[in-house]
Order: sequence, then C-alpha cells, then structure tokens
Amino acid sequence: MTSTLASAAELYLDGGWTAGGGTFTTANPTTGETLAEVAAADAADVDRAVEAAARALRGEWAATPPSAKGALLHTLAGLVERDVETLARLEAQDMGVPLGIAQGLFVPNLIASLRYYAGWADKINGDLLATDGYFGAPTHSYTRREPIGVIAAIVPWNAPLMILGWKLAPALATGNTVIVKPPEDASLSILHLARLVDEAGFPAGTVQVLPGLGEVAGEALTLHPGVHKVSFTGSTEVGRRILRNSATHFTRTTLELGGKSPQIIFDDADLESAVRGAAMGLFTNQGRVCAAGTRILVHRSVADAMLDGLTQAAEAQVLGDPLAPETTMGPLVNAAQRDRVLGYLHRGLDEGATLVAGGAAPDGPGHFVAPTVFAGGNDITISREEIFGPVGTVITFDDDAEAIALANDNRYGLAATVWTSDVRRAHAVAAALEAGAVGVNGWSPLAPQLPWGGLKASGIGRELGHEGILANTESKTVTVVL
Ligand code: NAD
Repeated sequence: MTSTLASAAELYLDGGWTAGGGTFTTANPTTGETLAEVAAADAADVDRAVEAAARALRGEWAATPPSAKGALLHTLAGLVERDVETLARLEAQDMGVPLGIAQGLFVPNLIASLRYYAGWADKINGDLLATDGYFGAPTHSYTRREPIGVIAAIVPWNAPLMILGWKLAPALATGNTVIVKPPEDASLSILHLARLVDEAGFPAGTVQVLPGLGEVAGEALTLHPGVHKVSFTGSTEVGRRILRNSATHFTRTTLELGGKSPQIIFDDADLESAVRGAAMGLFTNQGRVCAAGTRILVHRSVADAMLDGLTQAAEAQVLGDPLAPETTMGPLVNAAQRDRVLGYLHRGLDEGATLVAGGAAPDGPGHFVAPTVFAGGNDITISREEIFGPVGTVITFDDDAEAIALANDNRYGLAATVWTSDVRRAHAVAAALEAGAVGVNGWSPLAPQLPWGGLKASGIGRELGHEGILANTESKTVTVVL
C-alpha cells in the first residue's frame, strides 16, 4: 500500500511522473486522518498536458493501428484485473465505499468497459450514402467517424474508477487522447490506474492524469482552446458552469449530472424483491449514486408492507470501517457532506415528513449518517433535491397515471425503476417516464452495452454502448463526384 501512495504527489504527464504546481491532502473519511499528499495541477500543468495530448494525437497514437489500440485496452484491463484488490482498497479508504462493492462492482465495471470498447476499436465504421447525383454526374458519398481530439475527462468522487471507465474506454477505442481530472476527494485509485496505463505501454500523452482542484485544474481544462471535448460527470451546478465555459471555444460537451430517481412499486409487484431492490437503490454506496432511487412511489395498498420492509432493510445495514468484511455502509466522503445530509434530515422533519427509520449521525469518529427512511409527499425539499446520502422518501399513489405524474414531477430525469408483474404495464410506464434509463424489476442495471445518461437537469448526451462511440467521434461527409 505504501508504494501505491508514493506517487500520489505527482502528476502523470506526457508518459512520466512530475511535480505539479501545488499539492493538497486527502483524508480517510472513516478516521478523519490524512491518507496522502496529492499533486495539484495548475493552469501551466494543464497547458503542458494539452500540448502532450496534441502531440500523441497527431503522432504515435494516430499511427497505432485500430486492432493494436484494442489490444492495449485489453492489456490495461488485464492489469486492472491483477490489481483489483489494490484499486478497491484505495477507493474504500479514500471515499468510504464498502470494500466488497468496490471489489465486486466498481472495479469489475471498469474492466468490463475496457474490454467492451477494446472490441470496438477495429469496428469504427461510417456509412455509404446514396444521392441523386451532382449536376447529372453520379457521386460516391460516405461518412468517416474520426476522433474528436483531446478529451478532458472530469470525474466525481462517488465511483471514480467506474465512471472514468465510461469515458476513457470509448475515447481511446475511437483514437482520442484523454486528460483525466480525478476528484479532489478521491484521487488515489485513478493515480494507481495511471501506473497501469504506463505499464500497459500506451504512447506518451495518450492518457494523462492531472489531479487537482476543480476550480483550478478543472476550470483550466474546460476553458483550454486545445481541449476539443469535455466529458463531465458531477453535480448539476458545476455542469452548468462547464457548459458556459464550453461555449468559449465551442468545446463538445457531455454532462452526466445529478438525479432524484423514482422507484415505482405497483400493487402487482413481487413485494419481497421490490423491497430488496428498492433498498439497494436507496442504500448502495451510502446513497451516493447518481441513479439512487430516493423517491419510492408506492401503491397505497402496499405502502405499509413497503414501509415495514424498508425499515427492516435500514436496520439491517452495518455501519463501519469500509475495509471490514461485515460493513455494508461506510462513511460519507467528508464532514461537509455529512452536515449537508443532516441538514436535509432536519428539513424533512420541519416540512412535515414522518421519520420511519434512522434520522441521525451515530456518535464517534467518521462522517457516518444512519440509513434513513421518511414517509411524505413529493413536494417537500427532501423529495425534490438530490441529497447524495442514504435518505429516501416513501410517497403513496392511487393509480398508474398518478404514479407517472409524480415520477415525472422533478427537475431531474436520470433513471427510474418500475416494479410490476404485468408486462404491458411495464412497457407502457417505461415509455411514459422522463428518464434516460428505466429498470423493470431490477434497480439501475448497468452494463457497458447499455447507453447511460439523463434528461432535464440530469445532463446532456449519452455514454456507453454504441452511443459512446458516436459521442467520441466527429462525423465527416466525403463526396466524390464521379
Ligand atoms: P462535483 O460537481 O463537485 O465535482 C465533480 C468533478 O468536477 C470533480 O472532479 C471536481 O474537481 C470537478 N470540478 C469542480 N468544479 C469545477 C469547475 N469549475 N470546472 C471544472 N471541473 C470542476 O461533483 P461531486 O460532488 O464530485 O459528485 C457528486 C455529483 O456527481 C452528484 O450530483 C451525482 O449525482 C453526480 N454523478 C452523476 C453521475 C451520472 O452518471 N449522471 C454519476 C455519478 C455522479
């Protein structure tokens, strides 16, 4: 572990490790103790990285054949497989996710993205297009899908490696170069990944990792004329700022932002699996999931059963050290985030919600908040705003139309879950929901084949699947007059 943390104080830039303009410290949210000193890139570091990325884009990376790009992605996937334990422990220590989730979900998801897009690397095709000809002459027209160029990947702390995989793998498969800005609250796992990139043998400048502060390194990337695309995952507020910055140089931008996702439980649902799934949607990673199903819309006839089930699920959570095997819920990432979540708990009570489970921060060190369930309406603050903690509201409805109206009555539109045994109802409701992804009888299925992204304040654009290829390429139309 010591050797893993040793390079945290350096940037991975142009194929080597180098000091940045400054440093900052990252803390262990379980103990509050300093974990590591981390390099902080400044605007001059960003300039150097963009120059190196541009060189690789025109040079060695451009000259790397598509199948060799795919092979490099497979090599990187193999190295991540070798180091699953190290990477998972770093995330558990740095941002508090239980080790089993990092090991069993987050890192395997990164591996799956790398392998899926490794397969795409030599299958990037345009179209052959028929036209009516050009002043009587026939034409041969086609589209090419070309790399966009230098891509800045800006990543949040709630699942750094998994979310980076959604950006890095399709960007590299399509021939772009990538500058990664890890989150300041959890840079360590991505810095270890940079070592694996180096070991895999990617040409210098193809992938660079610049930890640092959002308002310094992140801001410099989004305003840099040499950055051709920003792929951002994070809060809606920062996403809005990035979109404004992107207007400066018409930088292509995808935004994966916040959510307030509904889980709709109909009266014909298998209640046992609905309780299990709804609890998973509420409590996984302490509720710090963009797709967290925090508005639990329940048919009135099954509301008591769902409340009982969710209460039991909340009480069954084991809070503690994320590295301990029995822990199902670790701390929140820092004191500010814990206090923010506690503020929402007070707000819920002030606005008339009924506390059903949890509702407080346990005594002792670490930034813990008890898993919390309220019963209340869709209009109160805790039902409208993203809390990013283990807090949900159970809201009742009487018919399908009301369930759909409640689900759509929110500024976010990322994901939704429907629990029903009626297949016609499942498809009809899925079609009516304002969400980028709908899961039926399963909370938030994630796979590299499935496009991911949001409507409304949840963002712009899609990642993953074939849409991830389109989002990382420009289309060029070529017409030859014959
Ligand atoms: P955040 O917006 O505070 O930070 C995200 C990243 O942006 C960090 O790397 C940060 O350093 C950087 N940043 C901050 N200010 C910046 C600026 N001015 N310019 C450029 N970059 C800047 O978000 P967070 O607190 O790290 O993450 C939580 C948020 O992420 C939640 O809202 C959550 O819903 C969202 N999220 C969305 C998805 C999705 O797929 N839609 C997935 C995970 C998380």
